[in-house]
Amino acid sequence: MEVTEWRTLIEVGAAGSMRVTLSGEASMICSRATMDEASRRITDKLWSGMLPTDEPVKMWGGPGSGVTCDGCDAPILPSESEYEVEMPDGRTLRFHIACGGLWQVLQKAMPPRT
Ligand SMILES: [Zn+2]
Repeated sequence: MEVTEWRTLIEVGAAGSMRVTLSGEASMICSRATMDEASRRITDKLWSGMLPTDEPVKMWGGPGSGVTCDGCDAPILPSESEYEVEMPDGRTLRFHIACGGLWQVLQKAMPPRT
């Protein structure tokens, strides 16, 4: 499946659960602890420049191939969904669905670089 429009919707539930919906195609619910850890790592990587703050040129979704998530550093298991993101510099990033959503949301929260 090719994702042509990357829309992220993060809803925080009353119980601290968070639902991340991307393009209406897939969604998952993570516990607060998992999301906190992932968002902390992704924020650190955005600040350190390990993760880009550019708009991706292309995105795909598919089953996990066991590679390491560029967001949370955990493997993306075949039972999970993987988002593959191509950047303007040719770099390819791979995320869990939730981590890809967090990356998109958190990079917009970063101050613009000068
Ligand atoms: Zn991840």
